[in-house]
Amino acid sequence: MTGTPLRVIVIGAGTGGMALAHGLRRAGFDVAVHERDRTRSAGLHGYRVGIGPDGSRALKRLLPPELYETFKATCARPPRHFVMLTERLRSSIELPVRPAVDEESGERSVSRMTLRQVLFTGMEDVVHFDRTFTHYEKLPDGRVTAHFEDGSQDTGDLLVAADGVGSRVRRQYLPHARVEDARIVSIAAKLPITPESRALLPEHVREGIGLVLGPKGGTCILHTMEFPWDREGRVKDGIGGNDADLVEQWPGLLFDNTRDYINWGFWASTDKFPPDVMKRSGQELIDLVLEMTPGWHPDLRELFRLGDPSTCFPINIRTSVPVPQWPTTNITLLGDAIHTMTPGQGVGANTALRDAALLTRNLTAFRDGRLGLHDAIRDYETKMIRYGFEAVLASKKQTGGDQPIHKPYVGRLALAGLRSYFFVASRVPSMKQRMADAMHTYRGGDRDDDVPPGPIPGQ
Ligand SMILES: Cc1cc2nc3c(=O)[nH]c(=O)nc-3n(C[C@H](O)[C@H](O)[C@H](O)COP(=O)(O)OP(=O)(O)OC[C@H]3O[C@@H](n4cnc5c(N)ncnc54)[C@H](O)[C@@H]3O)c2cc1C
Repeated sequence: MTGTPLRVIVIGAGTGGMALAHGLRRAGFDVAVHERDRTRSAGLHGYRVGIGPDGSRALKRLLPPELYETFKATCARPPRHFVMLTERLRSSIELPVRPAVDEESGERSVSRMTLRQVLFTGMEDVVHFDRTFTHYEKLPDGRVTAHFEDGSQDTGDLLVAADGVGSRVRRQYLPHARVEDARIVSIAAKLPITPESRALLPEHVREGIGLVLGPKGGTCILHTMEFPWDREGRVKDGIGGNDADLVEQWPGLLFDNTRDYINWGFWASTDKFPPDVMKRSGQELIDLVLEMTPGWHPDLRELFRLGDPSTCFPINIRTSVPVPQWPTTNITLLGDAIHTMTPGQGVGANTALRDAALLTRNLTAFRDGRLGLHDAIRDYETKMIRYGFEAVLASKKQTGGDQPIHKPYVGRLALAGLRSYFFVASRVPSMKQRMADAMHTYRGGDRDDDVPPGPIPGQ
């Protein structure tokens, strides 16, 4: 890259957009991120996201080293087990979550709001809040101008859509790329961890993740999120010196209201819910979950009942329809903006981070004269389309309303089949090991990385 650095306009300050902005800024690009949220702590971002090896690897490459350390220090205690349970809270199978053997492997539990605040740290001059993108325009000299609802605009050499599932950039740029309902509705809520609420959790879910498979495709996930700080925001006793210092010195904690919580999410196929479910809120949704789970274990129902209504909301789960590669230009996309997926495998955010690392790697190669800009973007899109839509299809297979478990009669057989499989696997070590390995693999554990180890070359 000679003379003035390439100016990159990123639409959306979510996980993928902010990670990209860090990587590009460190590589010397002139980068601006435009976000529709009005402030850095606006929006409902307080729930758990699981960051696996793909995500940690990308963050390590993209964030300044001290901020990566802060990311690690602000994660919740990592889950030790993944436990599948019946709706009567009988354990079907318990898989160990592989511990981190180095800092990039293993599984991390992150609060969305905390991750967001980590990603905003030190980026005050890069992120522009309260800027809702409306459309872009190609200029005669090849550059792109992004227009915003408030009448403002910004012009750059490259426009990156990181504006999530409803991406307006995608709608204009790739109008044929569709997002469709996965025919699953999910209702999520949080409740504070207290001795009483903790006692309602099965033993291994207290230190792990619980997945409850109930009748009629009703499924519930339980996460226990415990942070290094207490309710007052003071570092807890017993947190190691370095982590304690990082948390204490981190300005993001001022904007982050995350405290220890249990997070539950209940989902089923859309036809099981009343037609107005997406219009319901708070206590109405909690009551609905209780109505839909009459025979479930009293402890589980108590956890539903204790959900804080102000944190409870419905999600209409969507998925993207894979599209063939399009002609490369100086507009590109990452994350949910192009490959929204159901939460089946919990890899949407990890894939957005993987995109950000790969795009940064390729643009850095352009900066160093090792690739032309067109080739850098083309190579990124070729790889991203392949692994992104692979993850979309695998996730849909795991959580899609058209899966047998959601069908009226077949569903019962499918549930019985699954439970028998877990019963056998829990007693046959080689089968159990294969299940644990598969979980680690699809989260990027054994992957030959698209981005070679170490920092992005030239940073
Ligand atoms: C219930 C559930 C659980 C999940 N759990 C996991 C998990 O455990 N692990 C995992 O890897 N993934 C998980 N995911 C998926 C993950 O949340 C997404 O894949 C990830 O957030 C995508 O990141 P992104 O940066 O592409 O988009 P987003 O994080 O959605 O960011 C998009 C940003 O763009 C902004 N924006 C939108 N429109 C405009 C506009 N017009 N102008 C300006 N800004 C705009 C938005 O405000 C937002 O800040 C889960 C998803 C769901 C629904």
